[in-house]
Amino acid sequence: MSIEYDESLEHLRSSGRFRELRPLADRKGCRVTYRDKRYLNLTSNDYLGLAGNTRILRQFYGAIGRDDFIDMYGLGAASSRLLTGDIPAAHRLEEELMQAYGRPAALLFNSGYHANIGILPALLGKGDLIVSDKLNHASIHDGMQLSRAEHRRYRHCDYDHLQEILEESREKYGRIVVVSESVFSMDGDVADLPRLVALKRQYGAMLYVDEAHAVGLYGDRGLGKAEEFGVIGEIDLLVGTFGKAYASVGAFVLCNGDIRDYLINHSRSLIFTTALPPVVTHWNLFIFRLILQMGEERQHLAAISEKLRRSLVENDLKTCGSTNIVPVMIGDNQRSVDLAAAMQNEGYLIFPVRPPTVPEGTSRFRLSLTADMLWQDLDTLAGRIRAHMDNR
Ligand code: PMP
Repeated sequence: MSIEYDESLEHLRSSGRFRELRPLADRKGCRVTYRDKRYLNLTSNDYLGLAGNTRILRQFYGAIGRDDFIDMYGLGAASSRLLTGDIPAAHRLEEELMQAYGRPAALLFNSGYHANIGILPALLGKGDLIVSDKLNHASIHDGMQLSRAEHRRYRHCDYDHLQEILEESREKYGRIVVVSESVFSMDGDVADLPRLVALKRQYGAMLYVDEAHAVGLYGDRGLGKAEEFGVIGEIDLLVGTFGKAYASVGAFVLCNGDIRDYLINHSRSLIFTTALPPVVTHWNLFIFRLILQMGEERQHLAAISEKLRRSLVENDLKTCGSTNIVPVMIGDNQRSVDLAAAMQNEGYLIFPVRPPTVPEGTSRFRLSLTADMLWQDLDTLAGRIRAHMDNR
């Protein structure tokens, strides 16, 4: 049987779903160059604006003359953490994560994707059940697929539906784990963590919360939505990534000591991959300490996000959520592509988000605000989107 890739690609193109890579250059804070034009970057997950912060980068690399600079800035970990790729900084980072979160154990992964595809299959097997929010990230979905456990999905943030599933399932399965993001990556809305905690207790389930879009941004020390809701101690598996607000790459899970040991022995995405480069682990430690103190940046980001949401509504645009991820609902795939192109002409770097990343018929802009933006950067944005919508 021949596989006609060209036909399939043509189908993607004609339905406005074709994806391509786009190299960006000269990143300075929230400004970037794309195809020789300067833009305000509204698509980045660098939520605290640290990836292009030259002052902080200079501070980090300032120690480069030290005798231990290979240990600190080396680029090759040489092997998996389980062989010879482990370094003291990884343990120091885990220790500081445990202390900040007040949890018994922490374990690093190479990315949020590695964490989500590595934890579920390691901990859950035949006879177990994973119950997941329908809008959870693709990496959680892939983790469920890799696990031998059964899985079911509840309607997005519909905790009555979740409860129905738990009610029917309690007697039928061994372990049950409920999985949710805290801040949802495409809708910018927030899971009701206290309700999830109540349900996990009522049904004797484990609770797995992916805080990828919340760490660095919520709670007094930026530990995430679990800190803001005061429920850190109730979450059996709290996953955070270093790839977004922490301006890096990597991830961590907070859990208990047995689960940590179990993951070290069973999690394939930890065991069978080269550890992160030492420079990354050192940066993660450095930036984690710094972000604990960034209350002002967190407040500024929340304020401009709220203001943009109001301005979208004033311009009769449909949005949702309550975080710095601000969606603008468009619906049709091709329309979202055309509108994004029109906004790019005006210097806003906006890419349309289309199925399968979001459900069919919900193509949108996902405006992602970062703490180094000023309100002046954003005040005419909603009006310009409105104008282009009216012109089409
Ligand atoms: N979880 C969620 C909710 C995400 O949105 C993402 C990435 N967008 C990931 C995990 C994967 O994280 P990473 O980029 O660190 O692989």
